[in-house]
Amino acid sequence: MMFNLKEFSQSEIEKIIEEENLPSFRGKQLIQWIYKKFASSIGEITEWPKSLRLSFSQKYYIGNIKLIERKISSDGTEKFLWELEDKEKIESVIIPDKERLTLCISSQVGCPLNCRFCLTGKIGFKRNLRAWEIVDQFIQVSRLITPKDSKEIKITNIVFMGMGEPLLNFDNVVQALWRFKKLIEFSPRRITVSTAGIIPAIKELPYKAPPVKLALSLNATNQKTRSFLMPINKKYPLHELLKTLREYPLKPGQRITFEYVMLKGINSSEEDALRLSQILKGIPSKINLIPFNPWEGAEFKKPDEPEILKFQEILASKSYSVFIRKSKGIDILAACGQLKALYT
Ligand code: SAH
Repeated sequence: MMFNLKEFSQSEIEKIIEEENLPSFRGKQLIQWIYKKFASSIGEITEWPKSLRLSFSQKYYIGNIKLIERKISSDGTEKFLWELEDKEKIESVIIPDKERLTLCISSQVGCPLNCRFCLTGKIGFKRNLRAWEIVDQFIQVSRLITPKDSKEIKITNIVFMGMGEPLLNFDNVVQALWRFKKLIEFSPRRITVSTAGIIPAIKELPYKAPPVKLALSLNATNQKTRSFLMPINKKYPLHELLKTLREYPLKPGQRITFEYVMLKGINSSEEDALRLSQILKGIPSKINLIPFNPWEGAEFKKPDEPEILKFQEILASKSYSVFIRKSKGIDILAACGQLKALYT
């Protein structure tokens, strides 16, 4: 039986080192090599004597999600397709924007939510990602983009906005968040968990996870339209969701990000903008308007530019911070809601 070292938490690794009768500094080195130097095999741990590397490799290995394809968009966005140990596939995206380099990661293979406008939902749900498969998207991308011998990690932000609903894979996502914080030493404040609105998990998150940012995919301003677009809204209705967010513990200055996919003739009217300003009252918020990204066979269109601008203007006039998110990577199907990892 071979054990993947990335499956283990810090304390489990410490235990293994003890059981193998190795001094505890070997555990620290191991963690350093996996999470800081991104070693992809035990053989790479040159700080260890060859004999130790060999004996340790009899029982343990460093697992890696495998790069299958890397596509670069004309705007600099890159999409990575990975194969997992069981041959399932997922995608991650990196989005450069001035000083920032945002990594968008997947939390599930496929997604069970089946939001009407989102291509990932069309694959259906295959399985949850393990914590290490979530973290490994960061490790592998970092390896690929960081030139050899450079210690600098270039990714500045992480968003859980790839394939899947992170809060339906709660334990693995929370575990992954702790590893980002403790092992990779990536600041939780630069990590955003985005959800379609899984109420019980939203309530639990601040007590279980390091202090990450929360984003909520709202996409509609009334119960009927939201249920039409996002079936999960029937289980966790809009008014309860808004109540949960109103009670969400935020520190001064912190805000919840609301994502709003704009769909022509569905949710982009002036009434919608006004209603949105009403329902978000009392929630420290930032609003991101995302004009619909098309995919083949989609039943929606994005609204015309003036309509989008009017929507923004109405919210701005009510003192909301509201941004139109220029979608990136459309030409390589790397934009929001376009990830489907070659599943047909
Ligand atoms: N399940 C989580 C994480 C996925 S995030 C969530 O719903 O938040 C993906 C984001 O892209 C969501 O905000 C979703 O509303 C948005 N999205 C999905 N399909 C889209 C499309 N075709 N065009 C624009 N945005 C889309």
